[in-house]
Order: sequence, then C-alpha cells, then structure tokens
Amino acid sequence: MPKSKAIDPVVLLKDAGFKNTPVRRALLLALSTATTPLTVRQLVRKVRATKADTATVYRALEAFEAEALVRSMQLTKNNISYELSRVKHSHHITCTNCAAVEVIPFCVKGIGKNALKTSRRFKTVVDHRLSFLGTCKNCARTVR
Ligand SMILES: [Zn+2]
Ligand SMILES: [Zn+2]
Repeated sequence: MPKSKAIDPVVLLKDAGFKNTPVRRALLLALSTATTPLTVRQLVRKVRATKADTATVYRALEAFEAEALVRSMQLTKNNISYELSRVKHSHHITCTNCAAVEVIPFCVKGIGKNALKTSRRFKTVVDHRLSFLGTCKNCARTVR
C-alpha cells in the first residue's frame, strides 16, 4: 500500500466532528487509498474486517457526505460511488459494458461560468457533474 499521501482517517474524523469508530476509520482509509471512486458494495468488501453490513456502511457514507467529507456520484445506472472530497477535482470515464472506472485528471475550464451564461433562472453554479462513457480496452477486445 502506498504511504505517500498522508491522509489520516483519525484526523479527518476529528476535524469533521465524528466519533472515531472502526467502520468510519476503515471507510476513510479505503477511500483515501483508492485510485477511483468506490461503490458501496466495494466499500463493504473493503471494510469486511469490521463486520459492518451494507446498511451501516451506507449510513456512515451518508453522514460523511452531509459533512462534505466525501462526495457521491452515479457512475453507472445502479451504483452510487464515493470518493473523498479532498481528492483533486477530476472526472471519470466509465465502461458501459463492465463498469470499469478510470479517472480523467482534468476539468473543462470555465464550464460552470459558461453554464451560468446560458442559464435564465440560476444565479450561481457551485458544482458540476460530467460523465464520460465508453468501452474499455478489455471489453473492446471481447465484445463484437
Ligand atoms: Zn469494460
Ligand atoms: Zn470538472
């Protein structure tokens, strides 16, 4: 496991005013070491050692999101994925066949401002979701 990024789950929890529980700690650790956003199912698997069930994991993630510790996104039809809010803003490309996810490490400059310019009813844009869908190389090889 890479030790380079010093995101300490204990500090994150404390800063956000959360009690330090094994599940919360394990979730933040999993998210801080992940290279892509993780689905609830993937997270349940990663914190298996804490014996937390899906409902518990889900509740913890919702509480984290309410405190802006994590952000959720819908990358595939049936799955919500989570990533740490501290992670640099980026977008993702998702394989429509196998749901593989890769980070696209750039954003479109001024995209929010441009959206606002064309809007009649909005005063501010605070965030945006941008999804890229495609076929991964693996699937491109096997699907015809
Ligand atoms: Zn694929
Ligand atoms: Zn962006």
